[in-house]
Amino acid sequence: MSDEVRHDKNINDPSGPVSAETAPAANFIRNIIDNDLKSNKNNGKIMTRFPPEPNGYLHIGHAKSICLNFGLAEEFSGLCNLRFDDTNPTKEEVEYVESIKEDVKWLGFSWGNRLYYASDYFDKLYEYALALIKKGKAYVCSLTAEEIRKYRGTLTEPGIESPYRNRSIEENTDLFERMKRGEFENGKHVLRAKIDMSSPNLNMRDPVLYRILRAYHHRTGRKWCIYPMYDFAHGLSDSIEGVTHSICTLEFEDHRPLYDWILNELKAFHPQQIEFARLNLNYTVMSKRKLLEIVEGGFVSGWDDPRMPTISGLRRRGYTPEAIRAFCERIGVAKSNSVVDMALLEFCIREDLNRRSLRVMGVLNPLKIIIDNYPEDLVEEFDAINNPEDSTTGTRKIPFSREIYIERDDFREDPPKKFYRISPGSEVRLKYAYYITCVSVVKDENTGEIVQLHCTYDPKTKGGFSDDGRKVKGTLHWVSAEHCIEAEVRLYDRFFTKENPADEKDGRDFKDYINTNSLEILRSCKVEPGLINALPGSIYQFERLGYFCVDSKESSKNSLVFNRTVTLRDSWARIEQKQRT
Ligand code: ATP
Ligand code: MG
Repeated sequence: MSDEVRHDKNINDPSGPVSAETAPAANFIRNIIDNDLKSNKNNGKIMTRFPPEPNGYLHIGHAKSICLNFGLAEEFSGLCNLRFDDTNPTKEEVEYVESIKEDVKWLGFSWGNRLYYASDYFDKLYEYALALIKKGKAYVCSLTAEEIRKYRGTLTEPGIESPYRNRSIEENTDLFERMKRGEFENGKHVLRAKIDMSSPNLNMRDPVLYRILRAYHHRTGRKWCIYPMYDFAHGLSDSIEGVTHSICTLEFEDHRPLYDWILNELKAFHPQQIEFARLNLNYTVMSKRKLLEIVEGGFVSGWDDPRMPTISGLRRRGYTPEAIRAFCERIGVAKSNSVVDMALLEFCIREDLNRRSLRVMGVLNPLKIIIDNYPEDLVEEFDAINNPEDSTTGTRKIPFSREIYIERDDFREDPPKKFYRISPGSEVRLKYAYYITCVSVVKDENTGEIVQLHCTYDPKTKGGFSDDGRKVKGTLHWVSAEHCIEAEVRLYDRFFTKENPADEKDGRDFKDYINTNSLEILRSCKVEPGLINALPGSIYQFERLGYFCVDSKESSKNSLVFNRTVTLRDSWARIEQKQRT
């Protein structure tokens, strides 16, 4: 296909030449719209919509659809509607509607005053159904659901016509009106399109358009006891809104003939349905149904657990709208399904946070150092750079005193070769402060665990530089024991142990592959004192460690909680490399 644009070459290669900031990546939908504008189709009007079903929280796959629909409308001076496809009252909830609105806004898009619901159109849709009946193109069928399935045939066998297929227009009209009035119990009748039971496309074998369902609807209450099916409601809702380009995922390709049939039969305004490949990410499941199972099974704390691929989970984890939008632009739009590497998403968030986040020092697994020759009651303040990528953020003061904490991992009693951190007798730099040398190690008599180190400092290395040209190989982050504040830090690992957990070919459930060690909580971390003012949701780079976001739900001034957004480098790739060699 000539208009098919694929980015497979560099899609998983963050070091590739495509920068998130370069001109928009080509996508074939952009080309279609471009051509439609040139030929003045629809009088040059561009209207898209994002049509979520409010049956769960949005995930990163939806972000791709949001960026496409709202992004293309923005780019071509068109409009994009937000429309809830709320035709299935048993699975839908107001909580989901609210979360979806919040997520779309947070991503930076606006639907203006065009917030719609398919349920807004229930009256019109009913009239359309009646119109199909009057044309002899729809009939009330009284087969059971099971029988309808059986009569439908298979990919290799044609279907069988329903014995109710040739009911008269009068009888169909009467029955459909009585279905609406509530005269029949659930499942007694359905309304079906009269198309072709031998069509090679199963969707065209007299698909169900309406069903009887006594259920409370979050917007229409008990007004209706018949509800339109997705395929009937969707295209007509697009049409009613004057949508010009109805962009959806590939699994709807086989539904397009039905989409077109309904609009043609009713001579309604006819949007063009265009399908693109959905986003799949490795080590992730991306279906609201599966995500609901994870939430309901108690495998996470909720839809916004920072391990969830939901937009609210990513937000709580410290992902920014800019990074998610850059990611969606970078993966491009293709016509064939592929799996994107999680590393690419992580690359996008690092790239954004590297530019924007303030640097601080925090110690996750503290080891105390006493600097024997540093005066006991002296406190010095050193200037620390807030963000080397952004000089406008300036510097801050950080206190230094006789007792400090460093990372436990930064000390080795018997260092391997090329260990450039601290070990007995070795000299290292404390960033912004002094050179120190380790002189002795104190251990717990019973357990042998290292309790603290004694060091000496060289007063002539103030600020972290020596004036005699002496070099050290390692630079450590640290905090002053007297001044630092305690924090809880939550480290996250992949949520699944398998690249494609949803692939159930091996007969196992995706939940069998949940990584039971995906959350590690460190409760006695020490961070620099300025963080007492850190606002919930703000994101910092802890020097040498990664990016950390103040938890928006559970952090407070008295008990700081950070989520690790992402490490500084792709540590996962390195671990895999090690395992392979
Ligand atoms: P799920 O299977 O996760 O429940 P869905 O397609 O049923 O997804 P909808 O609420 O119907 O969810 O989706 C709203 C829009 O988002 C649709 O146009 C759909 O095609 C699109 N969408 C859903 N998942 C993805 C994905 N992984 N990648 C791109 N677009 C997606
Ligand atoms: Mg759906």
